[in-house]
Amino acid sequence: MWPFGKVACQACGQAAPKGEMKLSPQERGFGVCRNCLEAWEETARRCVRCQDDVKPSQQIAFFQQPRGFGHFDCGGTPISR
Ligand SMILES: [Zn+2]
Ligand SMILES: [Zn+2]
Repeated sequence: MWPFGKVACQACGQAAPKGEMKLSPQERGFGVCRNCLEAWEETARRCVRCQDDVKPSQQIAFFQQPRGFGHFDCGGTPISR
Protein backbone atom coordinates (compact mmCIF):
# COMPACT_ATOMS: atom_id res chain seq x y z
CA MET A 1 0.00 0.00 0.00
CA TRP A 2 1.09 3.53 -0.74
CA PRO A 3 0.86 6.27 1.87
CA PHE A 4 -2.64 7.67 2.07
CA GLY A 5 -3.48 10.00 -0.78
CA LYS A 6 -0.50 8.99 -2.88
CA VAL A 7 -0.45 7.10 -6.13
CA ALA A 8 2.49 5.58 -7.96
CA CYS A 9 3.07 6.96 -11.43
CA GLN A 10 2.74 4.25 -14.05
CA ALA A 11 5.41 5.88 -16.18
CA CYS A 12 8.24 6.73 -13.76
CA GLY A 13 7.24 4.79 -10.66
CA GLN A 14 7.38 7.79 -8.32
CA ALA A 15 4.61 8.14 -5.79
CA ALA A 16 2.95 11.54 -5.88
CA PRO A 17 -0.06 13.13 -4.18
CA LYS A 18 -3.27 12.41 -6.04
CA GLY A 19 -3.77 16.11 -6.70
CA GLU A 20 -0.61 16.15 -8.79
CA MET A 21 -1.47 13.05 -10.72
CA LYS A 22 -3.49 12.48 -13.84
CA LEU A 23 -5.73 9.65 -12.78
CA SER A 24 -7.71 7.24 -14.83
CA PRO A 25 -11.47 7.67 -14.56
CA GLN A 26 -11.73 3.97 -15.30
CA GLU A 27 -9.14 2.19 -13.16
CA ARG A 28 -8.80 2.93 -9.47
CA GLY A 29 -5.29 3.94 -8.43
CA PHE A 30 -4.04 4.09 -12.00
CA GLY A 31 -2.40 7.33 -12.97
CA VAL A 32 0.65 9.16 -14.21
CA CYS A 33 2.32 12.19 -12.70
CA ARG A 34 2.07 15.60 -14.28
CA ASN A 35 5.78 15.62 -15.08
CA CYS A 36 5.58 12.55 -17.24
CA LEU A 37 2.50 13.75 -19.08
CA GLU A 38 3.94 17.21 -19.68
CA ALA A 39 7.26 15.79 -20.86
CA TRP A 40 5.42 13.67 -23.36
CA GLU A 41 3.17 16.53 -24.48
CA GLU A 42 6.16 18.81 -25.01
CA THR A 43 8.17 16.29 -26.98
CA ALA A 44 6.39 13.76 -29.10
CA ARG A 45 2.67 13.54 -28.39
CA ARG A 46 2.98 10.31 -30.30
CA CYS A 47 1.14 7.11 -29.60
CA VAL A 48 3.43 4.24 -28.57
CA ARG A 49 1.11 1.77 -30.21
CA CYS A 50 0.47 3.16 -33.68
CA GLN A 51 3.24 5.83 -33.79
CA ASP A 52 0.69 8.39 -34.93
CA ASP A 53 0.18 11.82 -33.37
CA VAL A 54 -2.32 12.14 -30.55
CA LYS A 55 -4.42 15.21 -31.29
CA PRO A 56 -5.55 17.52 -28.49
CA SER A 57 -9.14 16.51 -29.19
CA GLN A 58 -8.39 12.82 -28.68
CA GLN A 59 -8.56 10.92 -25.42
CA ILE A 60 -5.13 10.19 -23.94
CA ALA A 61 -4.40 6.76 -22.56
CA PHE A 62 -1.47 5.00 -20.97
CA PHE A 63 -0.12 1.66 -22.11
CA GLN A 64 1.76 -0.85 -20.00
CA GLN A 65 3.22 -2.71 -22.96
CA PRO A 66 5.02 -0.96 -24.55
CA ARG A 67 5.13 1.56 -21.71
CA GLY A 68 4.00 5.00 -22.74
CA PHE A 69 1.19 7.30 -23.78
CA GLY A 70 -1.11 6.95 -26.72
CA HIS A 71 -4.63 6.90 -28.03
CA PHE A 72 -7.42 5.50 -25.94
CA ASP A 73 -8.70 4.05 -29.20
CA CYS A 74 -5.52 1.97 -29.44
CA GLY A 75 -6.42 0.09 -26.28
CA GLY A 76 -4.75 1.90 -23.39
CA THR A 77 -6.11 2.84 -19.99
CA PRO A 78 -7.70 6.31 -20.23
CA ILE A 79 -6.07 9.19 -18.37
CA SER A 80 -8.01 12.31 -17.54
CA ARG A 81 -6.30 15.59 -18.39
ZN1 LIG B 1 5.81 10.03 -13.62
ZN1 LIG C 1 -2.54 5.10 -31.48
